[in-house]
Amino acid sequence: MSQSHLELFAYAKINLALAITGRREDGYHELESIMQSIGIYDFVRLTLQREEIECYCGEFSGPENLAFKAAQRFFRDLNTSQGVKIEIQKAIPVQGGLGGGSADAAATLLGLNNLLGNPYTIEELEKFASELGADVAFCLRGGTQWAAGVGERLRKLPKAPKLYFVIVKPPQGVDTALAYRTFDEEGKTSHLDYLQWEKSLASGDKNAIASLLHNDLEQASMKLVPEILRVKEELLVENGCLGALMSGSGSAVFGLMDSKEEAMKTATKYREKNYAVWVTNTVERGVCHG
Ligand code: ATP
Repeated sequence: MSQSHLELFAYAKINLALAITGRREDGYHELESIMQSIGIYDFVRLTLQREEIECYCGEFSGPENLAFKAAQRFFRDLNTSQGVKIEIQKAIPVQGGLGGGSADAAATLLGLNNLLGNPYTIEELEKFASELGADVAFCLRGGTQWAAGVGERLRKLPKAPKLYFVIVKPPQGVDTALAYRTFDEEGKTSHLDYLQWEKSLASGDKNAIASLLHNDLEQASMKLVPEILRVKEELLVENGCLGALMSGSGSAVFGLMDSKEEAMKTATKYREKNYAVWVTNTVERGVCHG
């Protein structure tokens, strides 16, 4: 009998760099980003069933969940009475800029394709991914990628060396749409230097990577949640991070550390102050079988 359920790890991402290059007529922002999978993951369990799609994910249960929408898109072009139960255990903080919803959607697309005997090619899954959200295509591939367009046009980069991060998430999250609106009021567009990133990643030099960290959305999100600036400054000045940056539209801030031990020490300090904090590292995949 063919398999009827599958368990997957859906990995979070950070943006090692993010430049807003312009705004399209439809209101979407064009960007360039260096995206990196990290070892914080949601646990996604898929169980095939007849007809109905169900999604259980705590307060994010139901049809608004991006994983539910991914399953809906997946089944739309297949003439089938197939349904699926999706159960998600969240570990990736919500509204952190760590792409949790996108990771769950990517895991659902890959998992369903696997369970149903690969009815779609990876290119078809990538097309569904870009319809669902800007970061879903990245999460399908994972690792270290250059993303352009609205984030869906990917180009492989040399894989990042094993880097250790401490990730601090201020209690208040950032609404991504509001961050972009705030950026539009006075933010300046910019570009990333692909060749410089390629060289630094290939060299594996942590300090070179730290010197290139950049996020055009930081100032806008810091206006909305001033704690982002405070955490970033503390990481740099008091905790010896090689570099620190807000991920995506925030509010999570990552500090690039010299070693796992240093990262653990810094995390302990934040834990004592009751912050949500993680020690994690770069990983090479966006989705993995559990
Ligand atoms: P990104 O960097 O992609 O903007 P983010 O961390 O800001 O990531 P998420 O936390 O993934 O964004 O999701 C933001 C919102 O999306 C949530 O507030 C929630 O309402 C909705 N959502 C839909 N599906 C999910 C999911 N599977 N997990 C978490 N949030 C989800």
